[in-house]
Amino acid sequence: MKIILPLFFVLNLLFSSCGKKQQLHIAIQPFVGVNQVDIELVKSSLVENYKAKVDVLTPIEIPENTFVNVKSPRYRADQLIAYLKAQKADSIDHVLGLITKDISTTKQNPDGTVKLPKSKYEDWGIFGLGYRPGASCIVSTFRLSKRRPDRRSQLIKIANHEIGHNLGLPHCDRDPNCVMRDAAESIKTIDGVGSTLCDFCKEDIR
Ligand SMILES: [Zn+2]
Ligand SMILES: [Zn+2]
Repeated sequence: MKIILPLFFVLNLLFSSCGKKQQLHIAIQPFVGVNQVDIELVKSSLVENYKAKVDVLTPIEIPENTFVNVKSPRYRADQLIAYLKAQKADSIDHVLGLITKDISTTKQNPDGTVKLPKSKYEDWGIFGLGYRPGASCIVSTFRLSKRRPDRRSQLIKIANHEIGHNLGLPHCDRDPNCVMRDAAESIKTIDGVGSTLCDFCKEDIR
């Protein structure tokens, strides 16, 4: 009994430390021009939704090689994501880039070919992009509503949606109010969802 009891305590300690998941560490990387209110808004929503530790990094210049002018002056979201990933410190799990400029990506079919019509989808303007899973994502304030309350809620939803993808969450159709619902190429869809993860998605990333 004398030996068993201490052993039990040691094992208990071992298991409890294994089961404890480390707190998620996210960094917000603003590109120059993003306002402080937007940064704080995104930060507090990520803390709330993901129970994450969120750092705000010093603003940086937009890398020039990400600029394109296919349909209009834009910055390529995929290249910005790659840039943010390359800059990421090892101590940080995910970096969310915030940018005021318009961003774009190429919409592809499941087989990797460009979605048709090519003229529309080759350089497709977007609100945000995050790979699943991924180390970084990008959110643009360029296309947000000009109405302040709508703008705020759109920004929060897009940021929380893209980080959700980075964490491995796919689009969610289990709860119509879930922030991971597919925007289906329309801001109206974003306006129709809530700003938080549904219980199923929360469970998936636990
Ligand atoms: Zn998505
Ligand atoms: Zn969900």
